[in-house]
Amino acid sequence: MTKNRKLYKGFSTSCVQDHMDFSAISPHILPIFGTSSFKFESLEDSISVFKNLQHGYVYSRYANPTVDYVAQKIASLEIPYSDKNPWGVMTSSGMSAIYSLITSILRPGDCLICSTHLYGGTSEMFLKVLNEMNIKIVPTQFSDEKNIIKAIEANPTAKLLFMETPSNPTLECYDLSKVAEIAKTYHLMSIVDNTLCTPYLQQPLAHGIDFVIHSTTKYLNGHGNGIGGIILSYDREELRRKIAQQVKLIGSQISPFEAWLVYNGLKTLELRMERHCSNALKLAEFLSNHPYIEEVNYPGLAHHPGHHIAQKQMFRGFGGMLSFRIKNGSFDRIKNFMDNLKIATQAPTLGDVDTLVLHPYTSSHLNLTEEQKKMEGVTIDLVRMSVGIENIEDLLEDLENALQMASHS
Ligand SMILES: *Cc1c(COP(=O)(O)O)cnc(C)c1O
Repeated sequence: MTKNRKLYKGFSTSCVQDHMDFSAISPHILPIFGTSSFKFESLEDSISVFKNLQHGYVYSRYANPTVDYVAQKIASLEIPYSDKNPWGVMTSSGMSAIYSLITSILRPGDCLICSTHLYGGTSEMFLKVLNEMNIKIVPTQFSDEKNIIKAIEANPTAKLLFMETPSNPTLECYDLSKVAEIAKTYHLMSIVDNTLCTPYLQQPLAHGIDFVIHSTTKYLNGHGNGIGGIILSYDREELRRKIAQQVKLIGSQISPFEAWLVYNGLKTLELRMERHCSNALKLAEFLSNHPYIEEVNYPGLAHHPGHHIAQKQMFRGFGGMLSFRIKNGSFDRIKNFMDNLKIATQAPTLGDVDTLVLHPYTSSHLNLTEEQKKMEGVTIDLVRMSVGIENIEDLLEDLENALQMASHS
């Protein structure tokens, strides 16, 4: 790798100077380009890259080879069997993916129509950040398409539809093809937050949705060791440039190291998702037959209101997320249940290899008003579970024990 050993008069010059030649090196695994800038061989080279006459890396806030590779890899998973050319722009978090995308499209005075049940942070951003920028937010019940049409007709400045399906934390499901069709009919653009599914379980672009975003922090990384996000689409070349520019100028790009952690997670995505799905289905069935449980939300259960839609569009399984309400679930009973779990960990994230529980009412949805919480189905007796890839017999035993302890408290 050292091209030639150069001798300098000073010690420090030798410490600082590099003479690297990577041409003979073929790494098996993606290297991390931990460099803020890229050098030019000559001023001419620099000018042609800056003038966009020649592709070249300049500065890692603009683009970085490690990040680009991972973005392209996720994009190719999002619509794998299509002749379309998907693209991806990675961002520093799921939130910055949502923010960078929406602010690339909307202007003050525009309106965004979103589903009522969203990730707590997303609802909060819409209400506290986008509202302040004079973007009107219209939360709408997406389970009936007539409501979406009504909202569009009542808001002539509406430009965007935004939804999550299944939604977090109550796992409502909305019809991707129908929402895409409405967006096309009324000349709006559509965005789906596909974090809970990953491209392994659901591919909204194939249903005609314009943009997908993921918090890669969750299943795509899978190991709970990094924060990141991605914006995905195809065609819309003009918007791709606009979004890349937005990410570059507001500085919401991901670091190469964080992107590389996602790259590692991607290797086992299918294996993990299969296990998440089969474990979650077994736990959902166990809980729905349990005398101490009031209600279970899981799209894989036949009685779940979103089951048929989920069957249609979650083509390989129903995911690893579920939530449930404990009978007579006072705060004390919920606390007893959660504090008595020995395997499941209390942590405010999802999609990790280990099982996680969360009390949305006092955590992810804490900053929403009572009315918003009610609208999103976040009641005090609700527990959210991100089912991990542990062995099912241990998870069943853990749940049974904690339910027994809670009900005798
Ligand atoms: C976590 C999450 C986000 C936000 O992602 P960050 O990486 O934490 O910024 C957005 N949407 C959903 C569905 C999430 O679960």
